[in-house]
Amino acid sequence: MSWLDQITAIEALEDAAFDPALVAAMEARGSLIKDRAIRFSTPTFKEYDSAEVKGCGKNSFPAFSITGGACALDCDHCQAKILEPMISAIKPEILDQKVRDLIMLQDLQGFLLSGGSNRRNEIRYERFYPVIEGLKRDFPHLKIAIHTALTDEAGAKRMEAAGVDTAMMDVIGSEDTIRDVYHLDRPVEDFEATLAALTSTSMDISPHIVVGLHYGELRGEQRALDIVSRYPTKALVLVVIMPFYAKPGTFKTPATADVGKIFLQARETLPDRQLLLGCARPAGMHKRVTDAYAVMAGLDGIAFPAEGVVGVSQAIGRSYHQEHACCSIKIGGDLGTGVKLRSCAA
Ligand code: SF4
Repeated sequence: MSWLDQITAIEALEDAAFDPALVAAMEARGSLIKDRAIRFSTPTFKEYDSAEVKGCGKNSFPAFSITGGACALDCDHCQAKILEPMISAIKPEILDQKVRDLIMLQDLQGFLLSGGSNRRNEIRYERFYPVIEGLKRDFPHLKIAIHTALTDEAGAKRMEAAGVDTAMMDVIGSEDTIRDVYHLDRPVEDFEATLAALTSTSMDISPHIVVGLHYGELRGEQRALDIVSRYPTKALVLVVIMPFYAKPGTFKTPATADVGKIFLQARETLPDRQLLLGCARPAGMHKRVTDAYAVMAGLDGIAFPAEGVVGVSQAIGRSYHQEHACCSIKIGGDLGTGVKLRSCAA
């Protein structure tokens, strides 16, 4: 039975529309991805449960925003809404206290540090680094991830010196998208320079590419993949534009076949890199089809996986496991730091 026949027999996907030529192209590369186990990540900063994969329910990996809900860039696709569900920590001492409380009360394993940016797409973390140093000194097991935005060599070194474990940034491969969507007067080269600066440190680097960032159209994704291919990053996180954060009527939802094509291009451009499908992507049947393409294209991880992914993994013979952490942070293994981590505080 072909992959298409098998996956459309899965109950959660029986009404799904797949591109037969794209599924056939993925099946043709099946032998190259068969032995890649896939990780289903279910971090706790969002309620989650599915018939196949259970949520954690404990606050073991929250996200903090050092600007609360504020952002000066106000990109068309986000309008700072991505900050709203994050825990506000606008002063270093507030971050310190909230993290220590969560460690004591909920056995916190790690957290994501983020925030809104200035007009040059930079986030002012300097005041928070002494707190990070103190938390890492007092709780060596703590894993700290950070959204870097644009930075330079000195900025990257400062993050590393503070003890940040994983650094994440968006890589944009189109000048038009930077200018129109981000309202930002900086070239694609500045995004590449940030990646170069980050990969010159010992931090784990997880760049993100937003598929369909140009108002739902594909523009610059392959150039962004080529940029990532030039630097030794731990992983690449792919997310898909979600119009409901955007100004009404300005974005269309990317076609699932377009998203699937970018997954295949990513796997071909980065054959040995960890490819992860991050939290942000359209919901419903779009998510089920997108996640099925992610499994068939050979991605290595999916955050908050849709119904049907276990069935697709079993149908094409890929093994899988679950972890309650940010998809860019590996928990349950030995990170070469000698610190053994549990998958959930429960
Ligand atoms: S994507 Fe980042 S920089 Fe853009 S509006 Fe959202 S929080 Fe601000």
